[in-house]
Amino acid sequence: MKLIILGLDALNHNILEACKEDMPTLHKHLKEDMQGLLKTTLPNYTGSTWTSFQTGNNVGNHGIANFLKYDKHFNLQLLTGEDLKARTFYEIAHENNLKCFIMNLPYTYPPKIKGDIICSWLHVYEKIEDLFHPKSLSERYPSLKNYKNRANRSRSVIKYLNSAEEVLESQIDVVKEVLAAKEHDLSFFVIPILDMIQHKAFSDLIDKKINKKTVVCKRICQKLDLLIKWIDENKDEDAGVLIVSDHGFKVYEGKFFVNSWLKNQGYLKTAKDGIQLKEVVNRRQKKRGNIDISKLVVFIKKRPKMFKLLENFYDLFIRYCPFDVIKQPGFDIEKTKAYCRSTFESIIFFNEKITSKEKVKLKKELLNALNKVEGIEAHDCDEFYCGKYRKELGEIVIIPERFEIDSTIGDTDFLYVKRDMHSLNGIFMAYGKGIKKRCEVKDANIYDVVPTILHILGIPTPKDMDGKVLNIFDNESELVKQPIQFSETDRTEEEKELLRESIRDIKI
Ligand SMILES: [Zn+2]
Repeated sequence: MKLIILGLDALNHNILEACKEDMPTLHKHLKEDMQGLLKTTLPNYTGSTWTSFQTGNNVGNHGIANFLKYDKHFNLQLLTGEDLKARTFYEIAHENNLKCFIMNLPYTYPPKIKGDIICSWLHVYEKIEDLFHPKSLSERYPSLKNYKNRANRSRSVIKYLNSAEEVLESQIDVVKEVLAAKEHDLSFFVIPILDMIQHKAFSDLIDKKINKKTVVCKRICQKLDLLIKWIDENKDEDAGVLIVSDHGFKVYEGKFFVNSWLKNQGYLKTAKDGIQLKEVVNRRQKKRGNIDISKLVVFIKKRPKMFKLLENFYDLFIRYCPFDVIKQPGFDIEKTKAYCRSTFESIIFFNEKITSKEKVKLKKELLNALNKVEGIEAHDCDEFYCGKYRKELGEIVIIPERFEIDSTIGDTDFLYVKRDMHSLNGIFMAYGKGIKKRCEVKDANIYDVVPTILHILGIPTPKDMDGKVLNIFDNESELVKQPIQFSETDRTEEEKELLRESIRDIKI
């Protein structure tokens, strides 16, 4: 059976309900086919979410909790496919002689299979053609000559959205051309447009406001929906379609500054020549030096109105500023007991020099105190993350409930400005031959998608994968009669049981 998988970044039930007139095809599938919430990873950003998706593993078993990796001195580097050690679904499909097309999936560079791949926007490249693998891909699919993967951030919100619309249009052309050729057994496309628009207008769309922003966003939703309609009309009759998102969206009441909180509680100390926590790797040429705007950032992040006003100019400033921007005070690694490296991780690490006895005490103390803070929830990483990479995943993980987690070191703990940001609930939808209709899939997790894909394709699931095959098949279908097969693994029974327990315990 051929399989088409659409990774509609950030698609969620709320936006689909609010914009159902603009997305009638998707809404029809929601009502008439198999669907449900798809619980994502924590952190709920691209690095970990799409990695769990493509490996069928929990964060503890792939170790990727960020876009970035840090060396001992907190210098940053972007992660690449080489850092992704666990095997991906398309490698397994390729080994089983299935022809794959993979578009825009993070960490596909350097390529792990012969083709066909369009590497993702996360990869550092000079020309767009550098993303195509094999290089001859654009000869077979001429629409790639106009392929775009990034919207222009350095303009106004409307200009940004218009540029995002152009990205979508170019990707729609590629998807159609690839699917029309019917050359692949497994076609997978990540389309990021819904993430782009929800960052700018999620609450306006949910509140059904009509303004310049929502007019563009609704037009974008209509274009995306027409693509789904086209796929339905042009796919082979027995082809299956899966639609998945890596996270959802929600409105947060504001930001919780975890490092400011640690500083105010005495666990984190700043210093003039302290370590700078950076969150962005400079992809372009080296800049002329540093400019310190940390005092200004701290000042702004205490003032909701000013923050809201200046937020949109921040990207523009960072891009055109000829200097590397220092946006927060450095921290004193010797005197600091606990710190969070990045907004994209929301994990607290401890100073390496503290003894294991002190560590136990500190963890208990911090968990108690953090769980008294409103609108967030703190968990012990020993219980939350289990697997080969447990040790790299810090000590305490914070779940953003009502407040988004921000790692800026300032002097106030909270900023009360409503924020449209990623939530933990993505979506899973499936339809096609053998898949149940009008049914809700329960307890689906992002790492369950790969075992489900492999089952549909008739390929055994590696036993060491954390995910399970989702119960989405029609009782009469061959897929339900076909036993779930496993291939061998090197994980011990004891490790597996520990993992099962830890997954059961997490209630998010
Ligand atoms: Zn996003």
